[in-house]
Parts: sequence; structure tokens; C-alpha cells
Amino acid sequence: MMDFAIPDKTHDENRQGEALILESASQRSKNSGRKLYIESYGCAMNFSDSEIVASILSDEGFETTADYTVADVIFINTCSIRENAEQRVRNRLKEFTIAKVKNPGLVVGVLGCMAERLKSKFLEEEKLVDVVVGPDAYRDLPNLIGTVDDGNKAVNVLLSREETYADISPVRLNSNGINAFVSIMRGCDNMCSFCVVPFTRGRERSREPQSIVRECTDLFNQGYREVTLLGQNVDSYKWSSEVGSQKPEVESEQLQDVNVVNFANLLEMVASVHPDLRVRFSTSHPKDITDEVLYMIAKHENICNYIHLPVQSGNSRVLDLMNRTYDRDWYINRIDAIRRIIPECAISTDVITGFCTETDEEHADTLSMMDYVHYDFAYMFMYSERPGTLAAKRYADDIPDQVKRNRLKEVVAKQQEHSYIRLQSQLGKVQKVLIEGFSKKSDKDYCGRSDQNAMVVFPVNENYKPGQYVNVLVERTTTATLIGTVIS
Ligand code: SAM
Ligand code: SF4
Repeated sequence: MMDFAIPDKTHDENRQGEALILESASQRSKNSGRKLYIESYGCAMNFSDSEIVASILSDEGFETTADYTVADVIFINTCSIRENAEQRVRNRLKEFTIAKVKNPGLVVGVLGCMAERLKSKFLEEEKLVDVVVGPDAYRDLPNLIGTVDDGNKAVNVLLSREETYADISPVRLNSNGINAFVSIMRGCDNMCSFCVVPFTRGRERSREPQSIVRECTDLFNQGYREVTLLGQNVDSYKWSSEVGSQKPEVESEQLQDVNVVNFANLLEMVASVHPDLRVRFSTSHPKDITDEVLYMIAKHENICNYIHLPVQSGNSRVLDLMNRTYDRDWYINRIDAIRRIIPECAISTDVITGFCTETDEEHADTLSMMDYVHYDFAYMFMYSERPGTLAAKRYADDIPDQVKRNRLKEVVAKQQEHSYIRLQSQLGKVQKVLIEGFSKKSDKDYCGRSDQNAMVVFPVNENYKPGQYVNVLVERTTTATLIGTVIS
């Protein structure tokens, strides 16, 4: 099955399967001498969760390694969103077989959404696997590893209504020391009919705002200059002081007298950490994104002008079958509001082609929606039926693969056109860029992102270094990158 993505940082195809290493394993006081190898698949939330896992295990004395052949524990943090994501994990597991033969004491664990979906069935299907751990059970990892050390297999896939790992400071993995993901909520209550997430990640719950602000402040003090607030549906972030144990310590002025914190309030709290800390967020749901949030983005210079607003389909009947709870007109209304309130805002989206019963005319509505919005980026997928979802139970997966594929090709071609047009519109303009490091192609060039999340490449200038902001005049573009020179 084909998936196409024009990458941004929240789901970077290049990072799939990346092995993660702690910033500095030697900082850890306890050292059991055991080595952890952890690689992650899927969305940014999984990469962020792997940092929580590494934090929990480094407190037990584990060190991380980028070489699985020397590891004592191999964890693979999995994604279930489409069938090919699961297949990728199964193929990868096969590659660990030799390591296990060489080291029979090796612990192989499966974490994340696939673990949650398949539960103990995973142990039956993949004999290599010793431990299966769902996304809300990572605190139990030291015990589970102990169980495996004692010669047993172990499973914990309990979902929680409260777990947010708020008190765990994630160790930053493979960090450039400049951008960090900060999880603000977990789970999802939306029940889109195609989606497995509500089953694998459980009920939606928001993390206490004070712990989020504290984490962002710590990151800023360590030199980080950009945080991306993560949740499946950030616009429904809601924290209430009424919710028993989630009562915050009232330290900051912003929290005093506030009983309910919504996403707009949270954005403001994080933006107020420091004007030099850029704030991004993902993902917004079209049904929930409010004008209040849009005005908050417009109000704060350091809240980036970039919104990921997955449309999925441009046709109201298909959206209804998908249980997205908005229709075409609603979505267009939200786009118009973004254009009105934040005229320079970049917008990206997710599209699914060939959902159950989708006709050619309905597919054409998706293309016309793309023409209406002119998205800057898009993730584009063929529909993949997932066991247990509402769509799998209610509707036949009746669009032939070839039709799904052809529709996807049309969507991808259109998006490439639009991405290029959007980049071209930046020619001759000045972009404020946060320098992230050397460009992939040459250490004579720096790269960084504009406020609108476009990748910008420009010659290294000894007056500036990664982590600083520079103004870059855009002189050329490739199909995916802006190229220019620093003017101040
Ligand atoms: N919570 C986010 C939202 O609602 O936009 C995104 C969650 S999901 C991890 C990311 C994207 O995967 C979805 O927006 C959708 O386009 C795609 N997706 C989810 N389930 C899918 C399926 N069964 N087949 C194909 N694509 C799917
Ligand atoms: Fe899945 Fe819909 Fe929740 Fe996104 S909002 S995670 S697509 S159920």
C-alpha cells in the first residue's frame, strides 16, 4: 500500500524506525550496565512516548544504544494506524531473531498501539516477543522486565483514564537541543469510523497545565527554542481544577483564579514562558478549532502561524460516514476564519482516498477542497480497513485497491502543485528562521524552519549559530525548500 507525505516535523517519514539515544547516558547516576535499544514508528506522540520510556528505564540504570546487536533489551514502539505500519513492525521484528539466538537473555518488547490492539495475541503470533506493553502502562516496565528476567512472558495493556505521565520529565532522545515535543494530552474520544486510535490509546485526558508550563520553561532554560504541543485533538484540551487530584499547585500568575484551562489559555501560558520560545501544536480537529484559538495565535508573535487541520475528505456524505462530525461547509468556514484572523497562516492536512463507498464525484470534491484551500503540506493515504473500527463493522471496504491508488495519485499530484505554488509565493520575502543545524546536503549551509514551518536553507554565517533566529531573504525554491541569504 502507498502512503505519501510531504514531511513536516510531526510525522517525519525519515524518522520511522529511528533508534533513539539519550542526550547523555553518562549523566545517569545508577547504572545497571544494561543497554536499551528503542526504535519508534508512527506519529510524533510515539516518539514522545519513547522519551518517557527511556526516562523510566534510565532511572533504573539503563543506558541507551543505537546498535541493537549489543542491546540487553530491544523495544519497538509501534503504530497501528494502517495495515502497512503494522507489517513494517512485523518485518522489523524478524530482523531481531539472530540477535536473540546470539543472546538468549535478550528481552524483546513491543510497545504502543500495536501492543494495545493485539494484546497477548502478539505473544502467540510472534514467538520472539517477550513483553507486550500498551501506551498507558509504561510505569510498569521495570516490573515487566523483571518478570521476563525470571523466565516468563509479560503483558500489561491496561488503559487508564488518568495517566498523563505528567510528573515524568522525558529524556530528550536524538535531540538537536532546539526543538522538543511536549505531550499535553493523551487518548481520543472522537471515534472517527476509520480510526483505531480510540481503541489503542484510550479515553481522552488532558495533562495538568502547570506541569506543561514547567516542562516548557525547563526546556527553554536548557537552550531549547521551540516546543510542539502534542495531542490527537489539541483543541479539545481542557483541564479543570475541579478534577480531584489534577489540582495544580498555583505557582504562576496565569493560573490564579482560573478553574478551567482550555487550549487557547494553554497556548497563552506556554507562549508567555519566553518571547524567544516558539510554540507549535498538532493536531487540530476541524470540529473543535475555535476563533478564540485563532485570535490567540494572532496575538502572540511566538505562536507559529501554522495549523495542521486534517480534512480527510471534501465531501459531506463521506465525512458523515467517517463520523468526522463536520461537513464540507463547516470545514470551509474554519478555513475562511483562519485566513481572516491569521492571513499569513500556513495550513496542512491529512487526506484519505477510497473510503468505503466513495464515488468518483465525491473524490472530485476532495480535489476541489484542495483547490479551495491551497494547502502548504499534506499527508495522503489510501484507506486501510482496521479491525475493530466502526467502519470495519459497518461498511464494506468496497473500493478496489487500484481505484484507491489512482485517486491517491491525483491527490498527490495536486498537492505537489500547491506546495510548490505556496513556496513560490515566498520569493522575495523575508522569513524569520530558527536555525536548527547544518543542512542535510552540505555543512556550508544552515537549515531551519520559518514561522509557517517551511524548511529554509541558507549559507552558514559565522555570526550565527543553531538555536538563534535570523532573517532570511528568500531567493529561490526547490520543490520542498526555500533557499536564501541572511539579511540580519
Ligand atoms: N488525530 C488526528 C486527526 O484526527 O486528524 C490524526 C490521527 S491519525 C494518527 C493521522 C492520520 O492517519 C489521520 O488524520 C488519517 O488521515 C490517517 N488515518 C487514520 N486511520 C486511517 C486508516 N484506517 N486508513 C488510512 N488512513 C488513516
Ligand atoms: Fe483518530 Fe479521529 Fe481521534 Fe484523530 S480525531 S485520533 S482520526 S479518532
